[in-house]
Amino acid sequence: MTLTRFAPSPTGHLHVGNLRTAIHNWLWARRNGGQFWLRMDDTDAERSHEDYAQGIRADLAWLGMRPDGEVRQSDRFAIYEARFTELSASGHVYPCYESAQELDIKRKIALGRGLPPVYDRAALALTSAEIQAFEAEGRTPHWRFRLDHDQPIAWDDRIRGPQHFEAHLLSDPVIRRADGSWLYMLPSVIDDIEMGVTDVVRGEDHVSNTATQIQMFAALGAPCPSFAHAALLTGTEGKLSKRLGSVGISAFRDAGIEPITLIALLARIGTSDPVEPVTDVAPLVEHFDFSRFGRAPARFDEQELAQLNQKIIHHLEFDAVRERLPEGMEEAAWIAVRGNIETVAGAAFWWNIMQGSISTPALDVDDRKFVAQARTVLADLPFDATIWRTLTDALKAETGRKGKALFLPLRIALTGEEHGPDMSALLPLIGRDRALERLASASAV
Ligand code: GLU
Repeated sequence: MTLTRFAPSPTGHLHVGNLRTAIHNWLWARRNGGQFWLRMDDTDAERSHEDYAQGIRADLAWLGMRPDGEVRQSDRFAIYEARFTELSASGHVYPCYESAQELDIKRKIALGRGLPPVYDRAALALTSAEIQAFEAEGRTPHWRFRLDHDQPIAWDDRIRGPQHFEAHLLSDPVIRRADGSWLYMLPSVIDDIEMGVTDVVRGEDHVSNTATQIQMFAALGAPCPSFAHAALLTGTEGKLSKRLGSVGISAFRDAGIEPITLIALLARIGTSDPVEPVTDVAPLVEHFDFSRFGRAPARFDEQELAQLNQKIIHHLEFDAVRERLPEGMEEAAWIAVRGNIETVAGAAFWWNIMQGSISTPALDVDDRKFVAQARTVLADLPFDATIWRTLTDALKAETGRKGKALFLPLRIALTGEEHGPDMSALLPLIGRDRALERLASASAV
């Protein structure tokens, strides 16, 4: 069974970049009838906060992306300790005593000589006397994972195709700090094994992590999952701006963006499939395929998001929005206005025009006379679903007005607006009494 995980660090709000990764994981799991798990990568006790974890859960819930389960790394330190002890016994991890400064000097020397700044494994050559001396100085070691230089690193990435790395060109990754705290690398692999993750789907900034993590899976005696590394998300300026990189998902919700709009856009940008105004995730799930992903960065355009949102709202069924509409607003009213609003909240504006009061518009003398005539005609007509048609036909015959001269003064008098939803849908919803009253007021100014 396919099992994916979305593994954010609860050190901030989700932004569109993280969310896109979550969407990929969720769609891939659903596409394969599998499971999607949430993993809180909260080994950094200082920077991780429960408020952020709650925010991440709330964002996923709002998007309708319910995880099938959740694990928290901070609950699992005993497991990491046990596996670390095994790796230590089998010689896969080793203690190092260099200070950050010393490592920095080593890096600069290597770069100065035109060499890749790969850790020189000096710690492996320490004698026990030297180690004792360090410990006597009060130094405690940090720990590195020892890469197997004889084992070529290769995987077939679902997006990037065949990948190769030479282990000796990579630094042995630091997996544990001198204070005993964990870096991301090893706990992630231990969890992926224990959770039964089959597919690791993440951004291409993790490609070199994958290269070393592949050897950690082997060292822990586990098969590797599949990997898919998506090209990164950029803003319209060519990188994810500071603002977009920090603005939370709730800001989109507050701006009236529908959850389905974010999913529809983020699922498709960076792929060869078109962005489409879907109202349901089913077609996104059905067509989700890593082979459609390109290698170029995916461009996130907020204007495209707003336009897509508007298109999607035009197709949203009443049931999808009823709880967010003003009290009493019924299906016919929603259908009448959905094509003329940018956000669902915008329906309230038209509902008020249908059921509330408008300020009396100023018309010129001719139009005032015409509107007075319209009132008289309307009073004698049966007010049914076709009233707009009957009214305008009768007025056309009586006054010779047509086109804009016929329709616009009526629209203005009845709604206070020059543009808006189809009057044949709107007038029955405004109702007879209100319509008569508005025509009277507009003719009297
Ligand atoms: N916590 C890591 C991150 O947010 C997870 C990376 C991964 O998916 O393994 O970058």
